[in-house]
Amino acid sequence: MMASPMCRRCQTGAEKREHIFWECPPAKDTWEQLHMAWVISDDNSVFTDWLKNTFETKSMALCRTTVCALWALWIARNKFIHEGENKTGSQIASFVQIYLKELDDLKSSIHERRICVDRWSAPMGSRLKVNFGAAFNNHTKESYSGLVIRNSKAEVICCKTEMNLNISFVFFAEAVACLQALKLGLQLGLREIEVEGDSRTIIRKLQEKTEERSKISVEANRVAHCLAQEGLKKRESTYLKNLVSPGAVEAMAEDKRQMEVVVEVRGRRNEEVGESVLQF
Ligand SMILES: [Zn+2]
Repeated sequence: MMASPMCRRCQTGAEKREHIFWECPPAKDTWEQLHMAWVISDDNSVFTDWLKNTFETKSMALCRTTVCALWALWIARNKFIHEGENKTGSQIASFVQIYLKELDDLKSSIHERRICVDRWSAPMGSRLKVNFGAAFNNHTKESYSGLVIRNSKAEVICCKTEMNLNISFVFFAEAVACLQALKLGLQLGLREIEVEGDSRTIIRKLQEKTEERSKISVEANRVAHCLAQEGLKKRESTYLKNLVSPGAVEAMAEDKRQMEVVVEVRGRRNEEVGESVLQF
């Protein structure tokens, strides 16, 4: 802040924090335009007390707008002093609104991208990946584990559904499926294998306190769950080599399609990098 005792924008008061952020006409106008006149109410006297009180009593959304508006007012004040640019209260308020909206839009586009990342991804190189899922019937206390092993080309090495009795609740069903996935890998003599389930979903299910037949569905693990659901429906155990059972064909094809898209995008990126390297 400059040493000048008077505000150079309005020449009506000393340039203290209270003046810059509350009393100066563009500041007053900004808060009014943002429908936050409570900021400039007569009850407020010391800036730091007001700020502390705002954070303690107002909603997260109001605190966010307050902080953004203070920042915008400070920028506007600096631009006036150093560049001679004079912004009105409505211009500052609309900057605040647009800026916050951009942040919200960014958050939702990041969220959408995260959902895409949740899709099944193929193991690298010569590794294999086993996905496991469980379907549970609370009335009969039966669970069915769905297991599928695939390679880096999304080709099926084997798929299996296994029936389990005396399972007391859904968490055990998933734990048993995980154990069976590891056992299957050992039986096949596999040296390096990735194991993928979805314990997070199970925890969320438990927190929901649903005691009904539980169906767990996560995109990355959809094939394993289709197998488990199919087992539950048919009440049978199956073992297929280099083949997938009918209930999981569609989910399997979708994983393969998604994987091919990823490979294509990666290839295109590599080509672009290659081209730009050649240009230099
Ligand atoms: Zn002023």
